[in-house]
Amino acid sequence: MVHLAKVKKDNEVPPSTHDIVSVAPPDIDDFETNVYGSHFAADHMPLHEMPEREMPRQIAARMIKDELSLDGNPKLNLASFVTTYMEDEIEQIMTESFSKNFIDYEEYPHSAEIQNRCVNMIARLFHIPTDASGENAMGTSTIGSSEAIMLGTLAMKKRWQNKRKAEGKDYSRPNIIMNSAVQVCWEKAARYFEIEEKYVYCTDTRFVIDPKQAVDLVDENTIGICAILGTTYTGEYEDIKAINDLLVERNIDCPIHVDAASGGFVAPFIQPDLKWDFRLEKVVSINVSGHKYGLVYPGVGWVIWRSPEYLPQELVFNINYLGADQASFTLNFSKGASHVIGQYYQLIRLGKHGYRAIMSNITRISDYMSSEFEKMGMVILSQTQGRGLPLVAWRLPTDDSRIYDEFAVAHQLRERGWIVPAYTMAPNSEKLQMMRIVIREDFSMHRCDSLLQDFKLAIESLDAMDKSMLDKYKTHMKNHRNHPRHQSRVHAHYMNEKHSLQGQTGKTHGVC
Ligand SMILES: *Cc1c(COP(=O)(O)O)cnc(C)c1O
Repeated sequence: MVHLAKVKKDNEVPPSTHDIVSVAPPDIDDFETNVYGSHFAADHMPLHEMPEREMPRQIAARMIKDELSLDGNPKLNLASFVTTYMEDEIEQIMTESFSKNFIDYEEYPHSAEIQNRCVNMIARLFHIPTDASGENAMGTSTIGSSEAIMLGTLAMKKRWQNKRKAEGKDYSRPNIIMNSAVQVCWEKAARYFEIEEKYVYCTDTRFVIDPKQAVDLVDENTIGICAILGTTYTGEYEDIKAINDLLVERNIDCPIHVDAASGGFVAPFIQPDLKWDFRLEKVVSINVSGHKYGLVYPGVGWVIWRSPEYLPQELVFNINYLGADQASFTLNFSKGASHVIGQYYQLIRLGKHGYRAIMSNITRISDYMSSEFEKMGMVILSQTQGRGLPLVAWRLPTDDSRIYDEFAVAHQLRERGWIVPAYTMAPNSEKLQMMRIVIREDFSMHRCDSLLQDFKLAIESLDAMDKSMLDKYKTHMKNHRNHPRHQSRVHAHYMNEKHSLQGQTGKTHGVC
């Protein structure tokens, strides 16, 4: 809830400390001096009230840049799937496209056309049926997989409602079936669109959906099943074919939406024979994040539907905007065109061969890291050899005499600059703590070796601590978490919520 900002009340805003500085400030209009000689350098940054006066652009830019330099280094952030590297050539074009509003199809028809090409390429990558007999499939760009999943969920709900209405049956109690290890956007989609969540819970040894349990949960009110190609915890691919085959075998009319946020740009290159996509007849829609293994900076996702049957007409708006008709199915209206253009660049610049080369390199690095962790006695929870996402999830070996846990290891690594998160697993396996490293395009073998060295040092430091030292270290960790920078962000009204999986079970969400 970092982003739902709390507006401070007057008594929470510290009084100005201006007057306690004894030396007279530089002349307010004297901007000849450098940034740090101006009075702004000795003032507090404006925090709550918009300043009355302007600030010179160089100074504003420098102040913001200086503040952002205290953020972590994205390259050392091993927690996230989201792209941290793109080539200079496309960075330049994306910067030039900032001022284009993607929704203005009439003004920027080429940007719109570029999106359509991306939809076509991605749909074909996912084996969309393209034979002449059926109706055309369709898809759209989104801000990310979350928006794509909201749209996919709405489409499944509306289709189900229409079917129920036509049969003269009650359509007030829709439900959706998913694994308790789902990304938080699925919980949001269910809550926002008033759909009951039916969970297949993970166990201590199974972190993916159980296909039989999932299909057993289907009833007349089920709008669909969510299956994940690459869960955020262990990166494992759920057995989508098994769910499909059970639905076919039992002749159940229940669609599958595949959440391929991460796996959608990995599996087609590393495991081309794995059947998880539109080759399975029950799969009606698929989302993928362009900004994960699609290799674009954050701000783009995709969703594809098998045919208009699965995207009811009443959700699609034909708008005549600036003189041109356009069909639109999105949650928002205006957005920048840069990220869609960035996606097109990656698709044509790399081609299938280029994506395959990158994905196989990071799969090999991930396998290497996994085997090195195993040698250190860690318990590996993720897959290797491309059977799952290129990531390593592991936990410390079971050892009653060990006095530290995964969160302490994460803190040690953080002190060395690496962001490697520790998690509490999904419900019913929630006592399980784990750590996870996501291997992204720019994580080379050399960086992997540096990380492994620091990991060994982290473990040695913790092993060397006796009980009293470790207690002090834990206090230090707690103080760090309570640092003003990390604190007081959650609005008191929303603290301790009990409605989500996290609120109910202590599941911590995987960073994506
Ligand atoms: C990242 C992720 C999401 C959310 O995707 P965004 O593109 O960040 O909105 C949803 N599901 C899974 C499995 C993910 O990994």
